[in-house]
Amino acid sequence: MVRAVLYIFLAIFLISLLRSIIGVVGKGLAALFEPDSSGRDSTGAEPRKAGELKRDPVCGTYVSTATSVKKTVDGQVVHFCSAACSEKYKA
Ligand SMILES: [Zn+2]
Repeated sequence: MVRAVLYIFLAIFLISLLRSIIGVVGKGLAALFEPDSSGRDSTGAEPRKAGELKRDPVCGTYVSTATSVKKTVDGQVVHFCSAACSEKYKA
């Protein structure tokens, strides 16, 4: 009987703990996204998180500089969609 009461208390404690953690995380996320949702996103063509878009010279695909395969050719950084395209550019 005492054990059951203890378990209930533990459950209530854990739930309130989880709620406060979720609340803090939620507030943190809201603060993070607040500058982006201030209405300036209509002017910027490129999304900040995804990086700049560059054209893959091999297949013509537009790739994000954040995720592209980079290679420096004649002092210029060229962006590719994949290592395969990067290899083709060499040949
Ligand atoms: Zn490509």
